Amino acid sequence: MSAGGDISDSISNFFAIRLIHWQRQHGRHHLPWQNTRDAYRVWLSEIMLQQTQVGTVIPYYRRFLQCFPDMQSLASASLDEVMAQWSGLGYYSRARNLHKAAQRIMSEHGGTFPEQVEVIRQLPGVGRSTAAAIGVFAFGKRAAILDGNVKRIFSRCFGIEGYPGEKHVETQLWQIAEALLPKRDESPIERDIEDYTQALMDLGATICTRAHPRCGSCPLRPECIAFRDNCVGSLPTPRPRKILPEREAALLLVVAQGKILLEKRPSAGIWGALWSLPEMQVNENVIEYCMQLGINVRLISRMEVFAHTFTHFKLWIYPLILQVISRSPGHLSPEALSQPGNQWVWMMPEDALKAAIPSPVRKVLLQYTSQTEPLEILAMADN
Ligand code: SF4
Repeated sequence: MSAGGDISDSISNFFAIRLIHWQRQHGRHHLPWQNTRDAYRVWLSEIMLQQTQVGTVIPYYRRFLQCFPDMQSLASASLDEVMAQWSGLGYYSRARNLHKAAQRIMSEHGGTFPEQVEVIRQLPGVGRSTAAAIGVFAFGKRAAILDGNVKRIFSRCFGIEGYPGEKHVETQLWQIAEALLPKRDESPIERDIEDYTQALMDLGATICTRAHPRCGSCPLRPECIAFRDNCVGSLPTPRPRKILPEREAALLLVVAQGKILLEKRPSAGIWGALWSLPEMQVNENVIEYCMQLGINVRLISRMEVFAHTFTHFKLWIYPLILQVISRSPGHLSPEALSQPGNQWVWMMPEDALKAAIPSPVRKVLLQYTSQTEPLEILAMADN
């Protein structure tokens, strides 16, 4: 099998026919976002499925739809409400972009989801592959997808070496994806493009998996170069190892009358628009730091240090539990915090766990709430 744009019609037909038949017999047909042409639902599922597995997405997808059943309800919701429904699913820029895109669809497209793949691609948070998937499943468009699973299948089948995140490798894989698309005039099968696209997704998720590919059950095995050459385990070429820079930060769990202090993060940057614990440099003096916020605190305890890995760096987190002894009049008081647009809030830990918080903050809170002793000490001291 030759790669890139040189794929012959017979190879292209082999792929389409094998994949479509396999999907109809062995693929997934009852996922909550299947069997619909509702572009809103298709779009929501495709965004949630970016970098996230089906099993994780399903409960979030259902809950999100209950809260925001259509474009209008999503566009008119506050960002906080949207983030709260997304909380725990990770990659929060997806939720911010979803909200922004819903507002744009209302204002620029009269509330109707655009049909053209090129127009879909201009929506915030929608890349080339996601736009194609929405176009296929919502409108039956003939467009090629190339998500992580599909890159893996093509790298193996066509023996493409090189890390798929590199531009020249990705370009080659896109050429393959385009060349393999079933042609409309040669494909009399009803819904062929939907089944072909779903087949690629299902094959990558269930057969041609990263760690344990089941080549014995794979419909593409007769033409697969990696299988023939016994190099399935080394393709696709892994991301070149690079040592992530490391940073440190202290997260402050400030407690007053059983409630904890949360700060809204700016919308740009890590954990954008999420509620987080106040953060400071590890070498700063925590008492002085809190004085600047207008609160006088005492250090109750230090929790276990742990690491959280972002794409570009590793963050070592030092959680500190602090108790408020007194506060300057008006500073961070419930009255001051009830002002609209306020970036601070006191919340009961159990309510904070339901809010839009990043996963490391969730971890700190869960650890804190599981320790009954500190809670009792604090509650007594508050009275
Ligand atoms: S034969 Fe194996 S490596 Fe090749 S596509 Fe199928 S599962 Fe993947």
